[in-house]
Amino acid sequence: MPKKYHIKPTPTAPRFMPVGRSGIIDWEEDCLKCTTCVKKRCLYDVYKNRAYDSQTLEDSIDYQCKNCFSCIQNCPRGVLSKTINPEFLRMGDAYWKPDIIHNTWFQAETGKIPVSGAGYRGPFSGPGFDAMWTDMSEIVRPTRDGIHGREYISTGIDVGRKQRYLKFDASGNVLLEMPPLVEIPLPVIFNVLPFGNLGQGILLSMAEAARQIGSLMYVTPATYGAFLKPFKDHLIPLLPVEGLDLDAEILEGVKMVELLYAPDVLACIQQLKLRSPQLVVSVRLPLDPKARTIAADLAHAGVEVIHLFADYRGNEFVEGDAPRFVKDALREIHLHLVNVSVRDQITLIVSGGIALAEHLPKAIICGADGAAVDLPLLIALECRVCKRCVAGKSCPVSLQNIDPEYGGKRLVNLMCSWWSQLIELMGAMGIRDVRRVRGEAGRAMFFEDLERDTFGALFSNR
Ligand code: SF4
Ligand code: SF4
Repeated sequence: MPKKYHIKPTPTAPRFMPVGRSGIIDWEEDCLKCTTCVKKRCLYDVYKNRAYDSQTLEDSIDYQCKNCFSCIQNCPRGVLSKTINPEFLRMGDAYWKPDIIHNTWFQAETGKIPVSGAGYRGPFSGPGFDAMWTDMSEIVRPTRDGIHGREYISTGIDVGRKQRYLKFDASGNVLLEMPPLVEIPLPVIFNVLPFGNLGQGILLSMAEAARQIGSLMYVTPATYGAFLKPFKDHLIPLLPVEGLDLDAEILEGVKMVELLYAPDVLACIQQLKLRSPQLVVSVRLPLDPKARTIAADLAHAGVEVIHLFADYRGNEFVEGDAPRFVKDALREIHLHLVNVSVRDQITLIVSGGIALAEHLPKAIICGADGAAVDLPLLIALECRVCKRCVAGKSCPVSLQNIDPEYGGKRLVNLMCSWWSQLIELMGAMGIRDVRRVRGEAGRAMFFEDLERDTFGALFSNR
């Protein structure tokens, strides 16, 4: 029996003091110096391990405090109080919220699933993926228990074109030619990062993590270098159709290539296939209103993989109009491919707006086979989404100097946490193969659908 897939985390502390969610204000002047001070009773030893960063004047309490409020509530003189950190609130933007950044740092440090404790106190619904709930009907007594290793839950996918049916000769040999496939044990590929000072350290961190978890990463000619050669089994060169050089060094030894969509992409695929028949060739297609028709045409023409990409906040590319979120556009394209009978033959990868572990299964339920992840990787390496690098300014966490061994561990930890959450979700759904999650919209509820079904008739005349 093949060995079970497993990702092993390695606790990896951040290099820089992370921006904390809140700060503790300590009015020491009024302190009674109790022998059993509430600070000594902190379950997380936050006061005991307290440290200051002399450069940034940051206090470790701001990051390490778990906000249990025990010390605040139990101090007899009430000298301790908590306040939200304004720097924390300024991090990221409307989509990449401070909580997402904070949780990603925690996962990259520990490899563990973040637990908010004491129930969920957030809003009932929200925009984007927050308007979608997954079926957890088996959560109390999962029929598939992969979480504790009692049953194997597979998170692997095959990237490539699949035959619609099989044909055998009298001796049971397959008569059809089988297209090449690349197997990855987790439905995640490392995407090109949307910004950041992408030095060798970051690329090597990604390549090392991709190797360790058995996945793949995209690399462009601008960022490729001989230092990535040892990782060629895990690289997907991302190339423009125009000026495609079939003898380029970047193509040597790779299993898969991705071409940026252009009207003459099919001719280029043919050239690549003539040169290396076992190469899986993918087409990267912008998620816009034309994507549905183009995806169907490409699938009918025999394309193996289509990578639909939205912008980094998960919106489709559309001018002037309100863009649809990736989950809605993806659902529509997936269903269209089902209706024109080509969905099962191709692999659909999606990217843009995949920010949290839960977004991965949600994208798969909406019709993707897997997702390409970008900004969470940069955040795992301590990025604060301040975008100073975009303006040509220095990076507050010196990402250009990152040590690949350290970076690789942080990325493996993040993927370990995402993988654990995927397994947990599939266990709660009673599904033991991630390929069965694809397009299972019946196992999810969509807020817009519920609202329309419940209130549509009442308010339709308004
Ligand atoms: S609020 Fe809780 S976790 Fe934070 S310092 Fe006080 S006792 Fe420790
Ligand atoms: S921390 Fe800021 S400057 Fe550094 S990579 Fe992230 S966005 Fe860019």
